[in-house]
Amino acid sequence: MTTPSPQLVVLAGGMGTRLSSRTAGVPKALVPVDGVPVIDRQLDLAASYGVRDVLLLLGHRSEEVMRWASNRRRDGVSIEWLIESEPRGTGGAMLDARKKLAERFLLFFVDQVMDIDLGRLLGHHDERGNAVTVVVHPNDHPYDSDLMEVDAGGRVVAVLRPPHAPGSHHRNIVNAATYVIDRSALDWFPEHPGKCDLARDLLPQMIDHGTIVGAYASREYLKDMGTPDRLERVEADVRSGAVGRRHLRNRLPAILLDRDGTINHEVGRISNPDDLQLIPGVAAAIGRANRAAHLVAAVTNQPVVARGDCTEHELERIHGRMEGLLAESKAYLDGIYVCPHHPDRGFEGERVELKGPCGCRKPATGLVIRADRDLMFDSACTWLVGDSSSDVACAMASGLIPGLVTTGHAGADRRHPLGAAVRFVDAAHAIEFILDSFPAIWRRCQTVAAGVDSLHNILVRGPRGSGVSTLARLLAHAVRQMGRSVELHTDSDPPVTLGDGAAAQQVAITIVDGGSAAANDGRAFDLVIETVVDSAARAAIEQKIGTIRQAWPARGITGTQQLANKERLSDCPPPPLARSVMP
Ligand SMILES: [Mg+2]
Ligand SMILES: [Zn+2]
Repeated sequence: MTTPSPQLVVLAGGMGTRLSSRTAGVPKALVPVDGVPVIDRQLDLAASYGVRDVLLLLGHRSEEVMRWASNRRRDGVSIEWLIESEPRGTGGAMLDARKKLAERFLLFFVDQVMDIDLGRLLGHHDERGNAVTVVVHPNDHPYDSDLMEVDAGGRVVAVLRPPHAPGSHHRNIVNAATYVIDRSALDWFPEHPGKCDLARDLLPQMIDHGTIVGAYASREYLKDMGTPDRLERVEADVRSGAVGRRHLRNRLPAILLDRDGTINHEVGRISNPDDLQLIPGVAAAIGRANRAAHLVAAVTNQPVVARGDCTEHELERIHGRMEGLLAESKAYLDGIYVCPHHPDRGFEGERVELKGPCGCRKPATGLVIRADRDLMFDSACTWLVGDSSSDVACAMASGLIPGLVTTGHAGADRRHPLGAAVRFVDAAHAIEFILDSFPAIWRRCQTVAAGVDSLHNILVRGPRGSGVSTLARLLAHAVRQMGRSVELHTDSDPPVTLGDGAAAQQVAITIVDGGSAAANDGRAFDLVIETVVDSAARAAIEQKIGTIRQAWPARGITGTQQLANKERLSDCPPPPLARSVMP
């Protein structure tokens, strides 16, 4: 990045009145967050991106902040300040400071605790040619937040103030109160503006004026600490490392979810927001994933747009409805990635420009690539969970772990092999598994996979319902991630090859539940892994199997046959145990 280091402007006038029960009259800028004044945290962050030029916009009774600033002037950082004679609002304070503003500046509110990649933010501002860039993110209370309406090109077209009318179905795109601003965007405002608010008064005026206001979506940590409750939560996040962990330098585990049949009920093509209903339990599970610092995003084929059944704007409203329903359970999506295309031409009312092959319609990998560019996920432990074989194929082609649910199509389309997919009752169960059980199982699978050099033939067996198939499939993915190809034999699906089939060393993994025909066919296994299950876990598993047993036949899939096979095989004597490494 060759652009000169920008100026940092901090709106630091607040007296922290709402925090007074905690801070006894300390100006907001100097309120300690886990022992460090919030303003120091902001300047440290800016300094780490080379910012040397700081302007503080202060209110009256700011002597303490000025004293602090005099002491902070070191390390080659210049700190200037302006003191407003009367409260002017965030917009008024900024406009009053115009003579002191650099050509391009970062604007922070002093009650924000954050750790974000400022270099990337500034790069985005320049690349897009924005005059103003607003950092936005989803939150778990969009209904009482200032929302942004953003067009397909990333431009903010409207600022929406709460309360939001029922049925307005706005997207969960919240102003995170951090900006990059070109001074030229402020030139045309009157010299002596009245008291005004930046977000609520100036932004809408700029949009009306034709100023390019862009949105920068961030999954990083930005939260205000302006009330005792929030301060407490933010301090807990600082102590636990949650603030720094979300910085883009750290890749995070993600759960990518298909939309129709996975998040919401499959009811054919949805072109009206009110037709969208969430599958029970999904919202609460997504909320848990949000709080567990997993990224959650939707990746969805929506040929309704290409077919002309609904416009991009209407699709945004459908997604606004989905996000509104999720927010009722304090859940949100870090992104929604849509393929609007459809391959077949020649239908009435279709939009020809969206017809034809594309790189984003699943099973193609374009949506996953876009999601990764924004969200920077750790693909080694990221899942793609869906109800169609194209979701499974997309996960495989993207190097992600596929999960298949019994809701929606339940894989019944069978256009692509399903054998590598881990099976779940629904997305809620999938997310619970990914959060609670997967990390430990995955670590062990990786350990085993690292040692398969000389092992070509692995048997995974155990009592029915003890997670044999799940374990074997995860082991297969772990082996694939080590650069080997894997042939996976299950008793329900045709054999499936994971990874490059031409790889020199192919590993075969055979899954057997409850005993083995395979074990008696004369083959010797290099490694036998057995699963065990205690009685409490067993009861839970039996209950889940009951649910699956009910769900699969209803979807016209071979699940009943699969379960029948398992029962038949359970009479067979166990194979000789070559080596067991996994309890
Ligand atoms: Mg689907
Ligand atoms: Zn597409």
